[in-house]
Amino acid sequence: GFRCGIVGLPNVGKSTLFNALTETQAAQAANYPFCTIEPNVGQVGVPDPRLDEIARIAGSAKIVPTQLAFVDIAGLVKGASKGEGLGNQFLGNIREVDAIVHVLRCFEDDDIQHVANKVDPLADAEVVETELLMADLESLEKRVPAAAKRATTGDKESKLIASVLGQALELLREGKPARLTQPQDDEEARVFAQAQLLTAKPILYVCNVAEEDAATGNDLSAKVFAKAEAEGAQAVVVSAAIESEIVAMAPEDRTDFLNELGLEESGLARVIRAGYELLGLKTFFTAGPKEARAWTFPNGAKAPQAAGEIHTDFERGFIRAETIAYDDYVALGGEGPAREAGKLRQEGKEYVVKDGDVMLFKFNV
Ligand code: GDP
Repeated sequence: GFRCGIVGLPNVGKSTLFNALTETQAAQAANYPFCTIEPNVGQVGVPDPRLDEIARIAGSAKIVPTQLAFVDIAGLVKGASKGEGLGNQFLGNIREVDAIVHVLRCFEDDDIQHVANKVDPLADAEVVETELLMADLESLEKRVPAAAKRATTGDKESKLIASVLGQALELLREGKPARLTQPQDDEEARVFAQAQLLTAKPILYVCNVAEEDAATGNDLSAKVFAKAEAEGAQAVVVSAAIESEIVAMAPEDRTDFLNELGLEESGLARVIRAGYELLGLKTFFTAGPKEARAWTFPNGAKAPQAAGEIHTDFERGFIRAETIAYDDYVALGGEGPAREAGKLRQEGKEYVVKDGDVMLFKFNV
């Protein structure tokens, strides 16, 4: 599955956010730096109003959302890229995730110690980014010349690596993330992805604000949004403190509480969805009286690959997919009426699955 890694300096609210996300107390929030050491992984349901609508129409007894994993990655210290403290472990954990959720402290609270003794999310962001950049720089300073040397023997792969990672190295030397590298074709994109550079991963900034700023954001979060915009990254405003209150409430009380605060939905829902979009993930649905279920597929996947998300047998024995677009499913009132209206399509192996498709797979065992 796909994984988002939650990173940030100590005491910015990572564990509070992670706990609320997973509704567990697995990672202990504590008011001192460097408290969490082992990364914690939580599977989180992706909220999707379309799934509720499909379940209502299909009369499904059970609703199963698709899942996204969040990893609480603690242990960042200045000098991590030099292998200080838990630095190596921290960078290794980041290498394994598909996207980075970077939590920035945008709340004032004299009782909560800040590692640099002032609340400055842009300066905090730079500390983390510098460590990632240094780690990439150090690795490419070795790998690029080595590949260039092998390329002189006529090795094509090495030539490709030297060229693509050479571009990335130039960017890093200018203090820019490797994300800005532009592979020219699929082969270059493959080599670039295989390099697993830390600064190539997509980023979502989470501005952790005080309760009273949850609906509007504040001056600090505005600065983070400007930064995200300039970098082509994403940002959301969340109050981790509110989120941890919400998850402790009975579900029927949550909407009123959110409305009182001027919020339409929980910040967590926005974080999860933004993470999902950041990864370019799409959703298809299966629906029946037993259950309505959402499934994740990567953008561009064909029908057999999507079938494989449910079961490998579905992919191996794939015959065809009966498919209804979400809008047709809802407008016509479900599978039966959609079939009668000619809106249930028979799709084969080459069909590129679309976000929102309601699907039924036919397969050989
Ligand atoms: P981490 O080190 O980044 O994982 O930070 P924690 O989640 O452990 O939070 C550190 C401290 O800040 C804890 O005492 C939290 O209760 C507190 N905290 C987290 N988020 C907020 C917030 O939005 N507002 C306030 N006032 N305190 C918060």
